Amino acid sequence: MRQHKLGLCKAHFLEWIPQQTQRFIEKYQMFGRDERILIAVSGGKDSLSLWDVLNRLGYHADGLYINLGIDDGTNYSAQSQRLSESFAESHDLHLHSVAIETLEGYSVPEASRLTLRGKGRPCSVCGLTKRHIMNRVAREQQYDVIVTGHNLDDEAAVLFGNTINWAVGYLERQNPVLEARSGLVRKAKPFFRFYERETAAYALLRGIEYIYDECPHAAGAKSIYYKEVLNSMEAKRPGTKLAFFLSFLRAKESGIFANGHTDDRSELRNCQSCGQPTTAPDICAYCRTWEQIRNRQSRIVDERRI
Ligand code: SF4
Repeated sequence: MRQHKLGLCKAHFLEWIPQQTQRFIEKYQMFGRDERILIAVSGGKDSLSLWDVLNRLGYHADGLYINLGIDDGTNYSAQSQRLSESFAESHDLHLHSVAIETLEGYSVPEASRLTLRGKGRPCSVCGLTKRHIMNRVAREQQYDVIVTGHNLDDEAAVLFGNTINWAVGYLERQNPVLEARSGLVRKAKPFFRFYERETAAYALLRGIEYIYDECPHAAGAKSIYYKEVLNSMEAKRPGTKLAFFLSFLRAKESGIFANGHTDDRSELRNCQSCGQPTTAPDICAYCRTWEQIRNRQSRIVDERRI
């Protein structure tokens, strides 16, 4: 780990990751030992390693797997579900599973084809759906906090994109912990200070079986390009990503956003359809989007009949 000027053997590396994770949980006041944690599990190295670490640290963490129905010739969702289930079973952990197709009638790629008419990636409907379901399950099952396996590479890439676009609202909201408010469950990212290769090394050394392939829809995403740019900087100056993100957090603490630019303080109401919190006056974005998808499909069926 050139950024830390540190090299560890297998045994010490497997101790170091949980110790550091515990340090981050405490430093950023993410959650306590008596709280119920819901971890979003994708079958990838980050979420499964995080689940493993939290379990070893003695936290009560259940998993949530959301099957997006991304199988377009790749079996991506089927494989990631199998790996998530087998991890839960072998560690005697509880995993909630939600399939979008069962819940809403269409997979994420089908929904995207109906809304975007075959153009673009399904990432916006996918992200909206995952955020909604995570919060809904956490509320319904009375979890105190939702945790995700985002690592430093993910966070630095988001920060890079938001910085070059001066997306001040998003910059203000980017945090290792987002406090709960008006029906939105607290969110935390205990792995946000680990490089991707560190979480991958942890999974490999622990013998965790995870899905190696990226989602097939990730190809060409801006976030991948930002990661490549940051990786080339990191290769020349080890520690660049960590310094970039930690300096950002220090700048926030010193008050660069003291005037407040986001709508985080905007009033949240309950969606009239699903009851989840929303800033919209009546129906939340999730219900609106899925209603549009169903309407579009009905129109296609009607047109075919004519
Ligand atoms: Fe969803 Fe795949 Fe896009 Fe990620 S890359 S948001 S999993 S469709």
